[in-house]
Amino acid sequence: MAERMLQFVSLPQEMPEKRDAAERREDFGEIYRAFAVDHAERQASRCSQCGVPFCSVHCPLGNNIPDWLKLTAENRLEEAYRLSSATNTFPEICGRICPQDRLCEGNCVIQKDFEAVTIGAVEKFITETAFEQGWVKPRLPSRERSQSIGVVGAGPAGLAAAEWLRALGYQVHVYDRHDRVGGLMVYGIPSFKLEKHVLARRHELLEAQGIVFHLSTPIGEGEGGLSFESLREKHDAVFLGTGVYRSREVAVPGSGLGGVVQALDFLTASNRRGYHETPGDDAVLHARGKHVVVIGGGDTAMDCVRTSIRQGAEKVTCLYRRDRANMPGSVQEVKNAEEEGVNFAWLAAPEAFLGDGTVSGVRAHRMRLSLPDASGRQSVEAVPESSFVIEADLVIKALGFDPEDLPGDWNAPELAVTKWGTLKVTPGRFETSVPGVFAGGDIVRGASLVVWAIRDGREAAAEMHQFLSGAESMTSDHAAQAVAAE
Ligand code: FAD
Ligand code: SF4
Ligand code: SF4
Repeated sequence: MAERMLQFVSLPQEMPEKRDAAERREDFGEIYRAFAVDHAERQASRCSQCGVPFCSVHCPLGNNIPDWLKLTAENRLEEAYRLSSATNTFPEICGRICPQDRLCEGNCVIQKDFEAVTIGAVEKFITETAFEQGWVKPRLPSRERSQSIGVVGAGPAGLAAAEWLRALGYQVHVYDRHDRVGGLMVYGIPSFKLEKHVLARRHELLEAQGIVFHLSTPIGEGEGGLSFESLREKHDAVFLGTGVYRSREVAVPGSGLGGVVQALDFLTASNRRGYHETPGDDAVLHARGKHVVVIGGGDTAMDCVRTSIRQGAEKVTCLYRRDRANMPGSVQEVKNAEEEGVNFAWLAAPEAFLGDGTVSGVRAHRMRLSLPDASGRQSVEAVPESSFVIEADLVIKALGFDPEDLPGDWNAPELAVTKWGTLKVTPGRFETSVPGVFAGGDIVRGASLVVWAIRDGREAAAEMHQFLSGAESMTSDHAAQAVAAE
C-alpha cells in the first residue's frame, strides 16, 4: 500500500472552504469553494484502504472509492477520473448533492474514532479537474445498432439509462415535457446546491454522444405531445423515468388562500428566474420582504427556506412537527439553513392558515413525542391548548410528493401500479407489466435521491440490452460490464 495513504491519524478532516453565511445569503452560487489540488490529495490520503470498504457497500452505485482515493493521493487524477466515471454518469453531481452523511461517508470506518474521509468533495474535485483538463469525453459506442429506444424523462434516471444504452450502440431518443434537461435537478434543486451550468455541460456531452432530445414534448398529455401508444410503436423498447410530482396537501382550513403555495411551484419559479425568465405568478411566488413560513422538515423544505432567505425575505420560519433529532432532512442542510438565518419551530404543526382571501398568518400548536414503541419509533401528539400564531404572507407547503396517475393520464390501464401509485416492476429486471417497457427512479421507488435514480437507469439499461439483444444475463450489476464487453 502506498505510504501516502492511512494519514487519518495525523491529518484531520477538512472540507473545501465554505463561503461565509452573510455572503451566501446574497446570491445563488454554490456554498462550497473547490478543493485545491494539494488539499484534495491530502484529504484522499486519509483513507485506510479497507479490505471490505463499507463506503462502497453503502454507495448506491457501488463506486470503487478506495481505489480512486488512492489514485488521487498519488496525483494520478486522470486514472482516478476514469475509475470514478466508470460506474457513475454524473460523479460531479453526486459529489455535490448526495447526502454523504447517510451513504458513503456515514459508513466510512475511520469515522468511529476520527472523522470520515471527505469522499463527496474528492469525487467532485476529480471530475471538475477532468472537465478542466479535457478528459471528459462522450461515451461513444464501438458499433451502431438499428434498434431504437424511447426514454421518457430527462431526469437522472432517464439520462443514466440513455447514456448507457447509447454507449451500447442503440438509437436513443429522450422525451421530456420540460424545456430543459435535468428533471428535478434543473427546476427543483436550487443552484446554491447545484449550479445549472453543471447540467448544461452534461446535456452537451449527451448530445455529442448521439442521443436525440425531444424537449417540451409531454407523453400522454398536453399540446405537442405523443401518446404512450405511439411512443411504443416508434421504439423497440421504452424506459420510463418520469419522477413523482403530485404534491402532498396540508389538510387544514385556509389551504386555498392566496399566498399559500406548493414547494415545487416556488422552487421552479426561483430556478426559472436564474435563467432570466419571469414565471407566471411572479409576485406571489417571490419571498422578497415577506414573512415566510415553510411547512415540512425534509430536504425540499430546507431548499425552500434557504431560497427565501436569498430572495430577501423579512423573516423565514420552518415549522416541523417533530424535533431536530427526528428530522428527515440532512443534518448538514439544517446547519446551513441556521447559519443563513432561518428560524426553526420544532415540535409545531399547523392548525389553520389565517387570512381574508390572502394569507396573513399560521395558527399552529405544539406537539410532543411519545415514548418509543417496540420498534423504537416515537409518534407525535398535539399538546392541548398550546395554540400560537405566526405572522405570514407567504406559506410554502413542503410535505413531499406522490406519483401522478400514469395509467389514467396515459390511457394505459395495462401499466400496473402499486398501492402507492408507483410503477410495478419485476424486481431486479426493471420491466413493467407492459413487455418491453422498463422503468426506474422516483416513479418506481417513490421520492428518493439522485444517486438511486442514476443507479436504476444504469441497471435498467443492462436489462434492456438483454431484452433487445438476447445477451447473456449479466451476473453482476451494471451496464458498464456490457459496454466493456463490446
Ligand atoms: P425526475 O428528476 O423527477 O425527472 C423526471 C423527468 O420526467 C422530469 O424532467 C419531468 O419533466 C419528466 N416527465 C414527467 N412526466 C412526463 C411526461 N408525461 N412526459 C414527458 N416527460 C415527463 N436528491 C438528492 O440526491 N440530493 C438532493 O439534494 C436533493 N434535493 C432535492 C430537492 C428538491 C426540492 C426535490 C424535489 C428533490 C430533491 N432530491 C434530491 C431528489 C431528487 O431530485 C430525485 O430523487 C431525482 O431527481 C429523481 O430522478 P428521476 O429521474 O426519477 O425523476
Ligand atoms: Fe458517495 Fe454519492 Fe459518490 Fe456514492 S455517488 S461515493 S454515495 S457521493
Ligand atoms: Fe477509505 Fe473510509 Fe472507504 Fe475505508 S470506509 S476504504 S477508510 S473511505
